[in-house]
Amino acid sequence: MKTLLIILDGLGDRPIKELNGKTPLEAAEKPNLNKLAEKGICGMMNSVDFGVRPGSDTSHLSIFGYDPAIYYTGRGPIEAAGAGIELKPGDVALRANLGTVDEKLTILDRRAGRIDSVKPFEEDLNNIKLAGVQVIFRAGVEHRGAVVLRGRNLSSSVSDPDPHEVGLKVKKIIPLEKTKAAENTAKLLEEYCSKAHLMLKNHTVNKERQNKGLLPANYLLVRGAGIVPNIPSFKERYGLNAACIAGGGLYKGIGRLLSMSILTVEGATGGANTNLTAKFNAVKKALEQCDFVFLHIKGTDSLSEDGDFIGKKHFIERVDSATPIISSLNDLLIVVTGDHSTPSYLKQHSADPVPILFCGGGVRTDDVQEFGERACAKGGLGRIKGSQLMPEIINLLGKSKLYGA
Ligand code: ZN
Repeated sequence: MKTLLIILDGLGDRPIKELNGKTPLEAAEKPNLNKLAEKGICGMMNSVDFGVRPGSDTSHLSIFGYDPAIYYTGRGPIEAAGAGIELKPGDVALRANLGTVDEKLTILDRRAGRIDSVKPFEEDLNNIKLAGVQVIFRAGVEHRGAVVLRGRNLSSSVSDPDPHEVGLKVKKIIPLEKTKAAENTAKLLEEYCSKAHLMLKNHTVNKERQNKGLLPANYLLVRGAGIVPNIPSFKERYGLNAACIAGGGLYKGIGRLLSMSILTVEGATGGANTNLTAKFNAVKKALEQCDFVFLHIKGTDSLSEDGDFIGKKHFIERVDSATPIISSLNDLLIVVTGDHSTPSYLKQHSADPVPILFCGGGVRTDDVQEFGERACAKGGLGRIKGSQLMPEIINLLGKSKLYGA
């Protein structure tokens, strides 16, 4: 039997007056998801712990059974992995974005006029030399990228230069602890950022941008330094060959950190306009080769963060109409859940548990007929933590080791 884990990012919500007191998931027409709930077993899940308001990074690590208290060292390593960098334990990785500064290094725009790609600068940013360490730079999506320092005597305990506000000056990178490694890393990053600034300022692409009246992408704002942990692969941990299908860099990054195969799907944008049919078709194909497929769908979260509960409801309906592509497959355990709740009124993550369903294989059933917050709270699975998800899956796959005799 194979497993498909579908994570609808920020799925959980709270009652909405305009939807007659229902959540977007409850209000959505979703006959296919309801059928899965009816045939399977439902419950509620807190991805990290009860009362914890998780980020998407810590929640996914926890769901895959990697305790974020051990394996989460900051957003940098995950973004760098998502940008396609093959990381090694001990690397210091940072997220980066191109911004615009004036002569005095005052921020004019944190996204360089929403520049659509860092690609034209990638090679030059990758070729910057620093004494004693290797520098790796890769472009991510839009104005984003990632920087990795590889070598000895490095630390992630350094400050962010990004003041996070237009009109303020870029801050000096300083060590956040009194160690040689932190001092060394802060110095190296300062040097990298100033060399990058000099290169970007004189780059032909920026000269062309300025001629067209566009803002030059003349400063690389780095942040979220994290040291790459020594992390066992998903295969080592569970004996399952896994594939990751996601549009967003963060989710591809989690997949790559766990050594899953990262599948690229045309039209998978990591937003609400994603091609869901293409993604579900890719799942079907991946299941021919892999034991475990992780399908990440971001639109539910993006729409919640915009406060667009009607859009979230419609998006869930679109997901529902794409699920028949896989619901006819035999010998498949399907798990559908979210990584956290993002209530549309709050426009941010909350600690509310998310609905979860298991369907297929020898899974028990309960009386739940519908996939929704209220209905799943009455389900036979009860309330679980994210760290209990993989053990449940491994049990249903018949691969659990006997504890005792
Ligand atoms: Zn999330």
